[in-house]
Amino acid sequence: MTKEEFRKNAHLLVDWMADYMEDKEKYPVTPNVRPREIYNQFPNNAPEEGEAFAAIFKDFEKIIVPGMTHWQHPNFFGYFPANNSEPSILAEMLVATLGAQCMSWMTSPAATELEERVLDWLRDAKGIDKSWKGVIQDTASTATLSAILTAREKVSQYQINQKGFQGNEKFRIYSSSHVHSSIDKAVKIAGIGQENLVTVAVDSAFAMVPEALEAAILSDLEKGFVPLCVVSALGTTSSTALDPVEAISDICEKHGIWHHIDAAYAGTALLLPEFQWMIKGHEKADSYVFNPHKWMFTNFDCTVLYVKEPQYLVNTFSMTPEYLKTQLDAEVNNYRDWGIQLGRRFRALKLWFVIRTYGMEGIREKIRKHNQLAQLAKSWIEEHPEMEILAPVPLNTICFRYVDSSKTTEALNLTNEAWMQSVNQTGRAFFTHTKLDGKFVIRWVIAQTDVEEKHIVEAWGLLLEKLEAFHRS
Ligand SMILES: *Cc1c(COP(=O)(O)O)cnc(C)c1O
Repeated sequence: MTKEEFRKNAHLLVDWMADYMEDKEKYPVTPNVRPREIYNQFPNNAPEEGEAFAAIFKDFEKIIVPGMTHWQHPNFFGYFPANNSEPSILAEMLVATLGAQCMSWMTSPAATELEERVLDWLRDAKGIDKSWKGVIQDTASTATLSAILTAREKVSQYQINQKGFQGNEKFRIYSSSHVHSSIDKAVKIAGIGQENLVTVAVDSAFAMVPEALEAAILSDLEKGFVPLCVVSALGTTSSTALDPVEAISDICEKHGIWHHIDAAYAGTALLLPEFQWMIKGHEKADSYVFNPHKWMFTNFDCTVLYVKEPQYLVNTFSMTPEYLKTQLDAEVNNYRDWGIQLGRRFRALKLWFVIRTYGMEGIREKIRKHNQLAQLAKSWIEEHPEMEILAPVPLNTICFRYVDSSKTTEALNLTNEAWMQSVNQTGRAFFTHTKLDGKFVIRWVIAQTDVEEKHIVEAWGLLLEKLEAFHRS
């Protein structure tokens, strides 16, 4: 592609992007395709000759777009969102253009220093202790693995890094049964063994019971286990349940256990002063993760890990072979030493563009609105005689289901699943589910960048329409 063609094509794409941002509601939220239907549209072999951009772009529109789930659709209410925004997209364009690999200060001083600055801004805005320091990683899964590896190395005095497991470690990690599957994965990868992930009981709001945590720790200590880390969830993935941070921190502090707080989704709510009670006591914990790529208008990927003592991370991950040494290493942050990957994208630019464009107050306004819309939707569900809500709604995720007291849980599970599918099949809205106490519940997460009251009114109408259809059939 010549420089002139690049300019022309880039303009074309910007127009397409602007149209998409305006028209994204016109697409079905989820595509109607069968497995392999898309794969089979591509040729068997890679093209030997270069092709014109117009041809590539035509296929993008013809084959790719119809096979996409439109995550930015305001009626996307599934999973947790991965919301983006115009400033974030613009920053991503520049990141790709600069094409910098920001592994150390020297490989792009501005990337490191902007990262330090924006993460300090966010830390202070969230009410996280000013002595904590942050690093951007790709995902919360990686950040949690980093925290668990660091806890492991701190306890083993860096001996597992050095010598490997000796077979007598008997480490234990604790979390509630409602934490994200990335915790199980991290425990597996870190060599702790899934059997050593101790599941702590939850209360009726699905939050960890601190007394049960302490009982589990004491019982393990008696049996000769070594408690390594507690992972608490601030906003569980099923229902955004809030584990009690302060009580858990106190227990961890007492027993010298690393406390990692997983606030991947709900952490954004801390930007609202009225929610900062949620992390009261966190200064006694050790690490905290949240995903601006979920609910802070920063397109995937961008995860922020805050730690009380970065030195432990650096001790765990630092690798400085000769070819990576620089004369300034003592004076600067080399973020490659703060996590697993060496190569790093320039993700801080997205945060900087987003924060400056909205302003912190603009971001708060949007988050508050999402929470208010969720309370509105919650009130409709509560008033409906055939529906119930199965978990508290502290933020903007509602877990609800159709209910009929004459039916068994199993029958209700089937009906609710079919109901959700009939809604999703319309392409006019998209919901996902979870199970709470064995009950199939639909999750309604209201956190899209452009979601307005009219969208939830429309989704509610669709839910009612499909429920009616069940009654008739
Ligand atoms: C989404 C989520 C994760 C995983 O996030 P990734 O960035 O996709 O790894 C972990 N924990 C919680 C609580 C989550 O909601």
